[in-house]
Amino acid sequence: MILIDGKKTSIEVKAEIKKDVEAFVKKGGKTPHLAAILVGNDGASETYVASKVRSCNEVGFNSTLERMSSETSEEELLSKINEFNNNDDIDGFIVQLPLPKHIDEKKVTTSILPQKDVDGFHPVNVGRMALGQPAYISATPYGIVQMLEKYNIDTVGKHCVVIGRSNIVGSPMSILMAKNSKHANCTVTLTHSRTQNLEEFTKSADIVIVALGKPAFLTGDMIKEGATVIDVGITRVPDDSKKSGFRIQGDADFHSCAEKASYITPVPGGVGLMTVASLMKNTLAAAKKEIYC
Ligand code: NAD
Repeated sequence: MILIDGKKTSIEVKAEIKKDVEAFVKKGGKTPHLAAILVGNDGASETYVASKVRSCNEVGFNSTLERMSSETSEEELLSKINEFNNNDDIDGFIVQLPLPKHIDEKKVTTSILPQKDVDGFHPVNVGRMALGQPAYISATPYGIVQMLEKYNIDTVGKHCVVIGRSNIVGSPMSILMAKNSKHANCTVTLTHSRTQNLEEFTKSADIVIVALGKPAFLTGDMIKEGATVIDVGITRVPDDSKKSGFRIQGDADFHSCAEKASYITPVPGGVGLMTVASLMKNTLAAAKKEIYC
């Protein structure tokens, strides 16, 4: 079994970005600037945003973190988004999800200019990605594609089963894996909460991408010998042995899956780190105006 090391891979990707930024700035380009809006103080969101800000520093970007209280109205948030849309110094920005219940996520996502939507959640970017046109690709699926590429995992003609059909992970992932490209070209099965006999699909899969948010859901007896397991899940589960009182658990039961898998991503230390690195890649592309001129 080979461990797909998200830490190592993300360090490599970030080092490439850093070099690219230095060259770009040396030639007179502007320093890329990523902004993040954080509404409220959800613990997991705080951790994700802190890691994004840290990564900006590592690769030589400028960053802005805009904190807004959990009582922020939808109108106030939309006004902040409008301000960032019109701020020429900000190349790309994200609104950290989830948002408080009184704010309509769909409205928020669509009010970010597609040119600055480095999370790749805007319908224009999703549509362009699906059609194979230049687009910001949602950072988690983009990171997974890069991991498969870096580990030279054979995907062509293979059966890839994606578990979960969310707009930010499962659905775009299924589209990317089916693309007619060197590191995709899979036959894809997209499964979800209404899928019957899930195991029939997972047992025939060469690659299983599990993204449903249920800790240790995918077990070794559900996969075939030699499969590749990509674990997207991040759930805090209570753990008295930790100072924090919780540990991070993926959607795959690591030990039983690792016994049969040929490749597997750990949690933590897998997909999550590559998600952040991919957000940096999208931001660099925004600063260089590579996607939208
Ligand atoms: P979501 O809650 O939006 O969607 C979950 C999906 O799982 C749904 O499409 C649902 O149909 C499917 N599902 C539920 N029960 C199922 C079952 N029994 N069998 C098959 N499918 C089932 O989730 P999401 O936003 O895609 O996130 C999934 C997990 O990935 C979460 O743990 C989340 O924290 C994590 N996540 C990690 C990263 C990262 O960078 N590593 C990024 C985004 C999300």
